[in-house]
Amino acid sequence: MEELSYYEILEVTRDADKTTIKKAYRKLAKQYHPDKNPNDPEAEHKFKLCNEAYQCLSDDQQRSIYDRYGKEGLQGGAGRSSGGFDDLSSMFEEMFSGFAGGGRRRQNPADMDKYPLDMNVDMRISFNEAIFGCEKEVEFTYKKSCNDCKGTGAKDGKLSTCKQCGGQGQVYMKQGFMTFSQTCPACQGTGSAATDKCNSCRGAGYEEVKESVSIKIPKGIDTGNRLRVSGRGNIGKRGTRGDLYVTFEVTPDKHFIRDENDVYIEIPVFFTQAITGATLTIPSLRGELELKLDVGTKDKQRFTFRGEGIDDVHGHGRGDLIAQIDITYPKKLSDEQLDLLEKLQDSFGIESKPHESVLDSAIEKMKGWFK
Ligand SMILES: [Zn+2]
Ligand SMILES: [Zn+2]
Repeated sequence: MEELSYYEILEVTRDADKTTIKKAYRKLAKQYHPDKNPNDPEAEHKFKLCNEAYQCLSDDQQRSIYDRYGKEGLQGGAGRSSGGFDDLSSMFEEMFSGFAGGGRRRQNPADMDKYPLDMNVDMRISFNEAIFGCEKEVEFTYKKSCNDCKGTGAKDGKLSTCKQCGGQGQVYMKQGFMTFSQTCPACQGTGSAATDKCNSCRGAGYEEVKESVSIKIPKGIDTGNRLRVSGRGNIGKRGTRGDLYVTFEVTPDKHFIRDENDVYIEIPVFFTQAITGATLTIPSLRGELELKLDVGTKDKQRFTFRGEGIDDVHGHGRGDLIAQIDITYPKKLSDEQLDLLEKLQDSFGIESKPHESVLDSAIEKMKGWFK
């Protein structure tokens, strides 16, 4: 039986953003939750798989490892409690150096890059830029392996055996009867150290280069969404360039409140208009809309305008605009207004005194208590 990918388990596409993944996970976790499916081993298994998939895909670092190397790249890491990136990367080194990987190509530590090739920049955009899409210039700084020392950080690329670990790349620590090994902090596990520091990069092995790139932001983008700009990341020792990821943060709007692809707006309505069922002109994302109130519209009542919301970032249609009514009352009344309102009250007769029916029936009931 072929194993499902994490994307298939959560029933999302490979380019799904965080919000979509979270939504899919919530739905499935609810569906397969053991509380809802007592004594159902299949549901329990699916519930576990969903958790595993979500744990990986909701974490940017783990997800990029999974995308590149599959589940194998995460093995051992996914089950570890801390699961931080440092853990994962050191586990990776183990795998590639052939101790645990079994059959994997052993990579010379000297060839390994000192930094990940993919990189991320955060970008803040305004509410309307997110709704309608825009073009933006992203300024960022990437790392480029130093030419003079071939990324080693050593003058003329000359390396000698690391003194701290004797070239092992590992140092050992004793704690009680246990011995722990740890990546050598002096050489970061490469086993070699610079005889002299490279003058160009001062021993760092890379230089930092400023760059800017123009990106097209699709309409409907939301906070936490990520765009990949292919081939604009860090440059490694062998000239391979990683990808640049731009993660967005959308500044909220004063009037429109976003919920996924729907947008809410609160409309203050004077009490007389709510009673008469007036027709109002209200703002929408793309101009104005006509809102026809019901006669006797209630406070917090909602009116939905289908398809007047936000375009789905993946092109799956458009959300709704929901107007929520906030009824306002006069703070004080003039003598004339009071007079008019009292006349209005009288004109309704018994309908204007609904509390009396409660009063009457309660009194009737209480009479029975004392009989
Ligand atoms: Zn250098
Ligand atoms: Zn060392």
